[in-house]
Amino acid sequence: MDTDNLDLEICLEEAKAFHGDFCAGIAIGTRMSILGLKAIGIDDPKGKDRKDIIVFAETDRCVTDAILATTGCHPGKRTMKIFDYGKMAATFVNLKTGKAVRVFLKNKDGNRKVTREELEKSSDPNAYVTMPEEDLFNIVQVSVDLKPEDMPGKPLQIVTCSSCGERIMDKREVYRDGSILCRPCAEDKRYYTLINQGQ
Ligand SMILES: [Zn+2]
Ligand SMILES: [Zn+2]
Repeated sequence: MDTDNLDLEICLEEAKAFHGDFCAGIAIGTRMSILGLKAIGIDDPKGKDRKDIIVFAETDRCVTDAILATTGCHPGKRTMKIFDYGKMAATFVNLKTGKAVRVFLKNKDGNRKVTREELEKSSDPNAYVTMPEEDLFNIVQVSVDLKPEDMPGKPLQIVTCSSCGERIMDKREVYRDGSILCRPCAEDKRYYTLINQGQ
């Protein structure tokens, strides 16, 4: 059967189903992925090319769900890396050829701050489905330094933090004065605060 794996309509349906609804982020993320994949020479991301792609997503929002649904890449497979920069942007890497492109949304607002109130009454997400690609995105060729410890497959090593005693995979440890530390211990900065559960 001659199916276009990157057909916009089909990809949008898959992204909507995965995300649970349709919104601007889904339209943007789906189109961004199709553009990025084609630019790196991938036409069957969930089939024959599935082991040849890594994507870097730059927000933890809707766009990233669409990128996941369209590319088939996801964090648990280590084929999707999420940098929470709060940006509508992603980089697509072809592991076979090394070719990589970064696709990012064009800034139509200049330095203007947009508020949630404005966003709530803003336009129909379908506008992002029909808008010409060149009005929506910028695309640039990039090179990404992928280290062996960032690749899919079993961890290269697992070590123990000398401060908290927890195990650290994937060379995410820090070496200081000859001892091994996990990043939270090294930076003494955590996203959580421990609650004293004693009575
Ligand atoms: Zn959404
Ligand atoms: Zn630690």
